Amino acid sequence: MSPFPCYVPTPSSGIELLRKYSGPVPRYTSYPTANHFSDDLAAFGPEAMLKADNLPGAGPLSLYIHLPFCQSRCWFCGCTNLVTTRQDSADAYLDDLAHEIALTTPFINSERAVTQLHLGGGTPTFLSAAQLRRLGQLFHDPFRFDADAEISVEIDPRHLEPDQIAALYEMGARRASLGVQDTDPAVQLAIHRVQPPALNERAVMLLRNAGFTSINIDLITGLPKQTVSTFARTIDDVLALAPNRLSVFSYAHVPGLKPSQRIFDQQGTLPGADEKLRMQVLAKERLLAAGYVEVGMDHYARPDDELAVALREQALHRNFQGYSTRAGASVYGFGISAISTTADGYRQNHKSLATYRSMLAKSTLPIERGYLLTPEDKRRKQLIMNIMCERKLNFAALSQELGIDVETTYANELASLADLEADGIVERTPTGLTVTEAGLPFVRVVAARFDAHLHKGRAAYHSRAV
Ligand code: SF4
Repeated sequence: MSPFPCYVPTPSSGIELLRKYSGPVPRYTSYPTANHFSDDLAAFGPEAMLKADNLPGAGPLSLYIHLPFCQSRCWFCGCTNLVTTRQDSADAYLDDLAHEIALTTPFINSERAVTQLHLGGGTPTFLSAAQLRRLGQLFHDPFRFDADAEISVEIDPRHLEPDQIAALYEMGARRASLGVQDTDPAVQLAIHRVQPPALNERAVMLLRNAGFTSINIDLITGLPKQTVSTFARTIDDVLALAPNRLSVFSYAHVPGLKPSQRIFDQQGTLPGADEKLRMQVLAKERLLAAGYVEVGMDHYARPDDELAVALREQALHRNFQGYSTRAGASVYGFGISAISTTADGYRQNHKSLATYRSMLAKSTLPIERGYLLTPEDKRRKQLIMNIMCERKLNFAALSQELGIDVETTYANELASLADLEADGIVERTPTGLTVTEAGLPFVRVVAARFDAHLHKGRAAYHSRAV
């Protein structure tokens, strides 16, 4: 029996669908999403969670290090960052990280290998070459890294020198993700991030010459002063750099949460919803025509890239850093605001540097909030991650894995997909359901139908779906 009730289809064009389903929806880098985390530490027990995650036979580790410093603020930015030009801020922060590692490693099963390390920010290249070398040592000394561990770093092409690249390479970094966002001068002025394309070319050239094997470029649609024609030139500029991967994010305008974004309302230069949607359609068409594969929400990769291969082999995973090819790893986050993910739940460090530091001074793990997954959360998480990564649900396989009859247990959720089926976004298959190629931009809308917490949070927390 079809899980979808009778529904009269309404044929819709691509743009109409984008308009129809563009309401605020989580990006599902976690389930439940971080706005449901609790600051009642006793309720989710971070130390018990750490112990449970490190029993004999525990899987590999993926480390995330948040390096929050930036030389200036880009007004669109939603990251947790600290704007300063004082280089010694990073020395004190490295002391903090050393302290946090020392407090955490006693919990960690020393048999576990690190398969992934990601330096995010903020601006990791705020750190000098010497500071980056110290950072590498802080993590390489206590942890056992797999020989083929994937080490990646976010790069600001405005702040990148050859000695920093050499230090990153020594640390084992071979993947770099460059924040470009847009190459149009008027857009760059409007977002307070002046970054002439020559800087991007220089960064890519330096990284490739140093031996970096994978370059990702981040773009954003929906920034002030952007139009379809300016964004077309941005795409030309970045395609000329032949990146291995591209991320095309949709700007999330949440001035209530990010006060620096209020300036865009004063400027009145944000593009309209339709213009933004056309940019997204243009990006997809141009990148597919250039030979890239649409890996998942916002992400494109060359067909021979690990992400594209993992997509074909249905081995894609999703965590707070986006899509990943490393299976079964617990994510351990270090630094302010960093989120850790284990099979049982999530824990997040304090966002305030002063509080983070004062907790460390008391030799206490600097955890502010978290979430302990219930058995029902774990089941729904599995369904949502299958949709986000594999773009399908196989009812028999999931029923066996979860020990329930998926079609019966989630009959209401499956019935709620009727409009998406009528619009060609999902379709029934002999084994379950699948998100169609045309439905890919709406994958998180499909996932949201299985989110039992969705309407308990603040809508302003989530960005628009497309
Ligand atoms: S976009 Fe990057 S460089 Fe700009 S403020 Fe945000 S973290 Fe800093």
